[in-house]
Amino acid sequence: MAKLQIVKEGDPLLRKSSRPVTEITPRILTLLDDMTETMRAANGCGLAAVQVGVLRRVVVIETEESGLIELINPEIIAESGVQEEAEGCLSVPGKWGITRRPAKVKVRAMDRHGRIVEYKGSDLLARAFCHELDHLDGELFIDQKHLVRYLDPDEVG
Ligand code: ZN
Repeated sequence: MAKLQIVKEGDPLLRKSSRPVTEITPRILTLLDDMTETMRAANGCGLAAVQVGVLRRVVVIETEESGLIELINPEIIAESGVQEEAEGCLSVPGKWGITRRPAKVKVRAMDRHGRIVEYKGSDLLARAFCHELDHLDGELFIDQKHLVRYLDPDEVG
């Protein structure tokens, strides 16, 4: 595995749409492994491939509750409720904000074996799903459609 460089806000790459994965090649599996290593090294709870410079619809998420989740071509297939909680992004260092997100989401994707998998997430995991899937369409949490307000550094727990 290799730790990769994280693309930062201001790089136009982050605003591009990622392409679906059509075949799970060894390169995709290596990408998943490298993304997990990069996410863990940066103490993040999610990472999209575009954040390491690869415009593919690949996401990793890891929370205490969920463990490691690998998503290929993920889609939100159901959502309910609303939550407004704090969010940050490894590509937007030093900024935190309250975002408006669904309280619960259901995600369908492919796993590394090409099997269709579904995950339900609420609270932090729902935010992580929404945040990472937004990256695949060139969106960031600081965008007007998601951000309620910025947090001051002393508000960040
Ligand atoms: Zn992010």
